Amino acid sequence: MGAHMDPEEFRRNGYAVIDWIADYWTHLAERPVTPAEPPGAVAALLPAGPPEHGEPFDRILADLDPVVAPGLTHWQHPAFFGYFPANTSGPSVLGDLVSAGLGVQGMLWASAPACTEVETVMMDWLAELIDLPQRFRSSGPGGGVIQDSASSATLVATLAALHRASGGRWRGNGVDRRYRVYTSTQAHSSVEKAARIAGLGDDGVRAIEVDPKTLALRPELLRAAIEADRAAGDVPALVVATIGTTSTTAVDPLPAIGELCRAYGLWLHVDAAYAGAAAVCPELRWSHAGVEYADSYCFDPHKWLLTGFDCDAFWVADRAELTGALSVLPEFLRNAATESGAVLDYRDWQVPLGRRFRALKLWFVLRWYGAEGLRAHIRAGVDLAGRFADLVRADERFEVVAPHPFSLVCFRLRADAAPAADIPAADARNAELLARVNATGRVHLTHTRVNGRHTLRLAVGAPQTTYREVDLAWRLVERTATTLLGGAAEGNRATGAPAG
Ligand SMILES: *Cc1c(COP(=O)(O)O)cnc(C)c1O
Repeated sequence: MGAHMDPEEFRRNGYAVIDWIADYWTHLAERPVTPAEPPGAVAALLPAGPPEHGEPFDRILADLDPVVAPGLTHWQHPAFFGYFPANTSGPSVLGDLVSAGLGVQGMLWASAPACTEVETVMMDWLAELIDLPQRFRSSGPGGGVIQDSASSATLVATLAALHRASGGRWRGNGVDRRYRVYTSTQAHSSVEKAARIAGLGDDGVRAIEVDPKTLALRPELLRAAIEADRAAGDVPALVVATIGTTSTTAVDPLPAIGELCRAYGLWLHVDAAYAGAAAVCPELRWSHAGVEYADSYCFDPHKWLLTGFDCDAFWVADRAELTGALSVLPEFLRNAATESGAVLDYRDWQVPLGRRFRALKLWFVLRWYGAEGLRAHIRAGVDLAGRFADLVRADERFEVVAPHPFSLVCFRLRADAAPAADIPAADARNAELLARVNATGRVHLTHTRVNGRHTLRLAVGAPQTTYREVDLAWRLVERTATTLLGGAAEGNRATGAPAG
């Protein structure tokens, strides 16, 4: 103890860790989905300071079960339906383990050539899998890179858009114009965050209203906002459109938005963080109509494509516009390969300098599943969500409140499901319904607001989820509703869910 772990010790302890993970996955369904402990319970189990003397590995490993596991929300649990999925898989974990074992830094091609080249090829594979236009492939002026998250993708897209809109001068003291970013009211909070980081402030972002039925951005209002800002002397620089909004998976009308971006010279970034994975299935590619207008596009294999966090796939149509915004070359990174212009240096495509070998997990996942395995996973999620939506619709006390083209269903008790039909009371009832269902610990759902109204969200995506867990979720929801409504509306209940 206290000495380095030699390769033989690593081998032995490594097997034990893999065993622990395999056991965790095997028995996951038996655990409550969410922890019951109050805040501070996990921290209280840890010593106040670090140990002076090293400890045997089996003692460290033995603490995972009592200290860590009970304090987790289990995202890979088959009855986890919260937020969006963040699924992982065996090949992903093993690819990540190899990356950790190699411990290389892929900031430059020269600093670990295979790290860059495998990534470039994986991004081309992925582009083919989701049928992205040819201009995003590395064989032309475009190309892809792995970012840590969709938030980072939005940030670097914002920086590239500002670089273009300002002719490269927005960074300096010469900033004398106000640059504007447009997105819908349903866009992810990372758009506002990126604008803040880029120095535009919150008021640099124009939140465009959406259609109340489809919850998609209204292009005529986008045009009006761009016109108004131009008239005021400001510079419209960027539109962030969403395929599959975080709240309800609404799809913005890319063709109309793309035409506007072209007409007014704005950068179009498409954020498909969750729903991009759906495009591995040809029957779901309608959601990507108009993506050929995009200057940049991203989706998260770490959400719904069986690749563990973190892995955001980000593409640009013209990589020179991105590296123009982000490249700074200090003396200590100068090298012949970079100077030759024949290689990609991914440090110029992201905010940090250093980067892990994340392409390995993608390589493992894409080869293990193959395109057909990935499509089967997506189709299973869409099918399970469809089943849940059918159960909701069959119960007159409930309504499905937004289209559900992917694996998310937004639903709620109708405002008139109880005598008092006022909205605040209905919102409170839905919040109470969600709290009681989640308090069982047997499933986990989250919520959002749709047109101002409290709405429950059920998102499917964990590899182990089946009809059993979806039916369980519905049974808990509808029985809790019956209790909550005081046994009213008896006889309206769904017949589709099995008893028990
Ligand atoms: C989840 C999500 C994000 C943020 O994703 P991270 O990769 O966790 O940063 C951004 N945009 C949309 C539409 C999302 O659903």
